[in-house]
This record gives sequence, C-alpha cells and structure tokens, in this order.
Amino acid sequence: MKAASASACSGCKTRASSSSFFTGFTSRRAALGKLVPLYRCLTRVAVGDGRRTSFWHDDWLPGGSLSISAAALFSHTTSPEATVAQALAAGVDGILAPRLSRVGALELDAIRTSLREVTLVEGADRRSLIRCSGPKNKLLTGALYKLCNLGGVSSTNADFIWRSRAPSRVMFFGWLLTLSRVQTRDTLLRKTIVDAAGAGCPLCDATLETANHMALHCPVAARFWSMIGVEVPQDAHVRDLHLLPMPPSITVETAPAFTQLCCWQLWKQRNAAVFRGTAPSLPLLLKLCRDDATLWRGRFPVPQHPGVDGWHVCLGGTQNPPS
Ligand SMILES: [Zn+2]
Repeated sequence: MKAASASACSGCKTRASSSSFFTGFTSRRAALGKLVPLYRCLTRVAVGDGRRTSFWHDDWLPGGSLSISAAALFSHTTSPEATVAQALAAGVDGILAPRLSRVGALELDAIRTSLREVTLVEGADRRSLIRCSGPKNKLLTGALYKLCNLGGVSSTNADFIWRSRAPSRVMFFGWLLTLSRVQTRDTLLRKTIVDAAGAGCPLCDATLETANHMALHCPVAARFWSMIGVEVPQDAHVRDLHLLPMPPSITVETAPAFTQLCCWQLWKQRNAAVFRGTAPSLPLLLKLCRDDATLWRGRFPVPQHPGVDGWHVCLGGTQNPPS
C-alpha cells in the first residue's frame, strides 16, 4: 500500500510538473505572440522564397504593410495570415472574398501593379531592423521603450472629438477628418488608386479634393456653412475644427457634436454624389442634419437638451424638434 501510494504521488508530481511546464510554455508563447505586431513594425523584409513573410502584415512592398496601406482590401481577405509564398501561389484573388467593395477593388488594382515587380527566388527571406536600430543593426531597447511609452503627441482635437456625445462612427470619422485621413481623392492619389486627372473635387471644378476642401472650402460646403450662420475663415483647416466660430444658438457644450454632425452630413452628401450620382441639395442637406439633431438629442443629458434644440434654429427648423 505504501509503495502504491508513493507511486501514485510520484505520478501526480510528474503530471503536475508536466502540466505547469505546458502552462508556462503556453503563457510564454502567448506573451511572445503579442510582440509579433511590434516586431513587424520595426522590421522590413527583403523577400526570398516568401515562406516566412506575412503577405498582409509585414513591410515588404514599397507602400509598407498591406493591412494598413490597403485596409479596405484587407477587410475582404479570407486568409489574414497568408505568407507571401502562399498568396503568390494562390493568386491574390485566391485569398479574397468573391465580392469586393469599390475601394477594395481599386486597392486590388494598385496592388497588382506592385506585385508584377515581385519575383520569388531561392533562399530565405531577409528581415532587417529599420527602426530603433543601433550599430551593427542591434535593437536599441532605450529607443524602443521611448517609442512604446513616450512617443505620443497630445492632440488639441482629442476632447473635442471623443467627448462630443456624437455616435461613435461619427466621432471616428471626425477624428480621421481632423487628421486629413478620410478617403478624399488626394488620399486616393497618394495611394495611386486614382491618377492626377481623377483627383479633382466631384462637386466643383477644384483640381484636387482634400479633406479641407470637402469639409470647409468647397463652394457646396461654403454655401451650407453660410446658410447655418457659420463664418468659415479663409485659412480654416480641418485640424482646427474645434476653433470654428459657432452661431449664437449653438451652446459651448454641444458645439463639438454639432460641428461633427455638419461635417458628417457634408461627407455623406459628397459620397452620394460620387457613388450614386446624386446632385448636391442644400435643402436636403439641412433636413438630414435636422433629422440627426432630433435623433442625437437623447445622447445628451437633460440639462443640455435646450442646447441641442438650438441646433434647429440655425438648421432652419423649429426650436422644438418633433418628439
Ligand atoms: Zn469642391
């Protein structure tokens, strides 16, 4: 009995030890897995046989990581972890869903152009450190620490956007707008999705559509702002959206959401013209803004409801929105 008991204890010990080994191994593997995106941000790959390079996540094409430079197309992939070798063997279409959005299809055309220059060769892919590197291409841990912890820059727009009580999709749009990173045609030109001849404003004769032009200075946008009593300075820029002078009926507390509502509807009007051929209409634009004003009222605390009701004054509606 004693021997059997000892043997059982010994077995338990072995299992416990084995179990803790695998638990430790799994947790270490998980911890290392979390570092992979950082590792990819710091490195660039010269592709050899393409077997150790991520098609979507690694920086191996001139435009950088495809998951960032072709984000719309990446959202259609069926193989987010495909290697370059697998993607080229299957063809890019082989790792994509059958139907693509319009932007995704444009990004695919641009990628095909880059891929024509790629030829896989014998030998392993060569990865080099392009950020936080010191002598002999060694990783500088101090620089990496600063990059991860101290590299942030405070944005004057952060509170204006993210504390505005606008719906989250509108705040996200507002954030991209202040950074001039919405998909206006200057952005598409930079990504080589359109050429210079196709980079003009879809609503006027301007030869380059920028975020600034679309939201503030396009004649269509200027008429809208003027109609609602907002005087847009000639040098106004979307990065200073929080400085746009508001009419008297807009309260300080609700001005951030009101400004984003206006930009959001201007963007939707622009997209309706681009994708559906709908002609801009100021009365319709004002009505859609009033509809949103009514919908968004419940997002504000009760003491701020009169402030939201004030939106209807400058949007040409009634002081009291329909309940
Ligand atoms: Zn325009």
